[in-house]
Order: sequence, then C-alpha cells, then structure tokens
Amino acid sequence: MAPANGTGRAGGRNPGAGSGRGRRPAVKLTGTLAEISKRKGTHWDVLGDISNDLAAEHLKPIDRRTDVIHPSEMAKDDWCARNTFYRIMNARAGKLMTKGEFNFQQEGIFATGHALHDKWQGWLRLGGDLYGQWKCMHCGWLTGIQLDPVTCPQCKSPAVRYAEVPIRAEKEFLIEGHSDGMLLKKARLIEIKTIGMGTLRMDAPKLLQKYYFESEEAGKKLYDLDGLWADLQEPLPSHVRQLQIYLYITMRLMGLEVRRGSFIYEFKPNQATKEFGITLDLSVVEPLLEKATAIKDAVYQTGTIPEREFDRDSSTCKACPYFSQCWSDVAPNQQNQDVRDEADQPSKSRSNARAGSRRTGAARAARRVPAATAEGPDGAGGRRADGAVRPAQRMGRLRRRPTQSGGDR
Ligand code: SF4
Ligand SMILES: [Zn+2]
Repeated sequence: MAPANGTGRAGGRNPGAGSGRGRRPAVKLTGTLAEISKRKGTHWDVLGDISNDLAAEHLKPIDRRTDVIHPSEMAKDDWCARNTFYRIMNARAGKLMTKGEFNFQQEGIFATGHALHDKWQGWLRLGGDLYGQWKCMHCGWLTGIQLDPVTCPQCKSPAVRYAEVPIRAEKEFLIEGHSDGMLLKKARLIEIKTIGMGTLRMDAPKLLQKYYFESEEAGKKLYDLDGLWADLQEPLPSHVRQLQIYLYITMRLMGLEVRRGSFIYEFKPNQATKEFGITLDLSVVEPLLEKATAIKDAVYQTGTIPEREFDRDSSTCKACPYFSQCWSDVAPNQQNQDVRDEADQPSKSRSNARAGSRRTGAARAARRVPAATAEGPDGAGGRRADGAVRPAQRMGRLRRRPTQSGGDR
C-alpha cells in the first residue's frame, strides 16, 4: 500500500496527472479543481473525508472584519493601500468576501500555526502575568483587558480561554487587530511566530539560498536547516512592522503600560526557539500609519482612491482581485510606455523608477470614488522584492537575545 502523505498529493492513479501512452495530454488543473483531483487517488480514504469537510468549512464567509485595516496586511512588504481600500468599500457595500482557493496543505499550515500559538499562550499563562481579554467557553462572556480571572466572572466556569489583546485604532486609523499577548509586569507585548520554509521563502530568500547546498550523498540540493536557523539573528522585516504597529497603538492610543515587544520564534522543522526584543521605532510605524490615514480619509472624507502601489505588469497587480477595477481607466499601452520611460532614465535607480511610476499612476488615479464592485479574496497574492519600509529602517532598535533550545546554535 502506498503511503498517504500530508502534502495533498494523492499519488498512484491520480487522474489529474495522466501522462501515459495513448492518453490525452494532461490538463493542468489549478485551485479547487486540483484539490478535488488529488482526492480521487486511491490513497485518500480518511484524508479524503477530512479534506472534504475542510473544503466545506472553507466555503463559509470570512469571520473576521473586512471593513477595517488589519496590521498583518499593513506589515506585508507588498501592502497596497488601494487594494485595502477596495476591500473596505466592498465590505461597506455589504459584499461578502470570498476566500482564496482551497488548499489542503495550506489549511494544515494555518492550523499548525494556530495550535502553536495556543501552546505558547498556554505556557505564558502559567506565570500569572498574561494580560488581555478572556473568554468563557461556557457562557461566552468576554472580559475587559485584565489578568487571568481563572474562572468566568459571570458564570464561574473554569473554561476560560485567553482572547489576546485587542488592538483598537479604528477611530484614528481604521485599524483593528489582536496582539498575541501582553505581560503586565514586564510591560511587554508578545508576538509568536512559527517559522517554516514558506515564511523564509517570502521574508528571507537570501538566507534560505545561503543554506541550500549540493549534497553528494543525496545527489541533489538540500537545506542546512540547523545552520540556517543559527544564522537567523534578527526578526523578519514584516514581523517587525507588525509588532511596531501594535506597540504604537497600545502605547500611544490605548494607554496600556507597554515599554517593548518580544518575538517568540519557533522553527517548524525542529521546534527550536529564539527570542528577539524591539522598542517602538516611529520611523518604521509612521509611513504605515500615513498609508492607513489615506485609506481612512478615502473611505470617510475625500473619496480619493489611494495611489496605485505597483506597476500594471507587476506580479502583485496581476494577482490582485481588484486589477480590472484598479486599471480600468488606463490604457495598457500608456502604462507600459510610462514604465519604459522611467526605465530609460539612466540616472534613476530601479527603485526610484518604481517610485516615479507610482506617482504618475497616482496622479492619474486621483479621482472621485465610484461604488466599489470587485469581489475577491482578502489581500493581493504576489510579492515584490523590496519592502514598503526602507531596509535601514526595518528592524527598529533591536536587542538580540539568543535564548534557544533544540537545534539552535
Ligand atoms: S491592481 Fe495593483 S495597484 Fe491596483 S489595487 Fe491591486 S495591487 Fe494595488
Ligand atoms: Zn461564563
């Protein structure tokens, strides 16, 4: 019997992979169709049932607010304020958000991330200093921001779960979210991050490449995971941006007694851990808050659509669910000419050319907002190589604290 695997590949007689003699050429299936085709393999019995159940869950509407800006999207290096604006306008018009295509392996990655968050929050709770909201699983009571009540203040049930620290800046910046935790005596926000190969591929491709080497024994290239993890000496830029936003809002807007933030990193391949600390760095936060303000103003006051952030031909725009809406007023040839003109100026760096392109695009785009009509998944798909925050500003003031376990060196 061939082994079932956790990658979503059925193997064996997978009808989506037909390539034998006499067969018609295989059609490459994508998204949900590809997932269904995988499940038709002979090795998917229990896994097939689970996958079906998860796919049904996946079809349910997104249960978090889509009419606000989430710090996690702001932190991405390809965050497009215009994309967020379209999503918020759709939500305000009552349109339900659809999720991206169902992917069994992706569901597993998310679920593992959630489970690891629960683990760390459970361990943080043991010290009695975990601060935030608490939810009763018996009667549903949600507390204010406080230390562990141990039992529900309403019904006295001991079934109380940590509900994290709400990040509230809707009035000021249209931002809402949750921080993973706060320690009251330490006056510290906690951000838990599980680091897998996907995270590194997105946020630290050079580091990943550095530890990808040819193995004579295996006859192929392999990753030196221990070396890679040991070489990770600072938090990843998108994580820094996210925690900086939390620090700013809790310290400056919510009046919580917070002085710094700590990252708890866990490496998925071997459960090795690291901690990094940062303090508030306005040079990181302010550009992000400026973009959030532009969105808020566009939604509530000016009606002027935020600038386009990328070129029409960029992978980010191509993957954006609002592409046709966003570029409907620009002839493709005109946009391409703009890009070529900027690329032809030798005195400009590539990044300057891109910034110029954004400005010219923004000038064309400054117009009154029509009712948003596009529907699509939350957030743009692609990423670009550079970040919204300049590299020199990304990290804030770091304090490296090499606590570790497992394979960390
Ligand atoms: S198409 Fe590009 S510029 Fe327009 S909203 Fe999407 S990501 Fe932003
Ligand atoms: Zn209760």
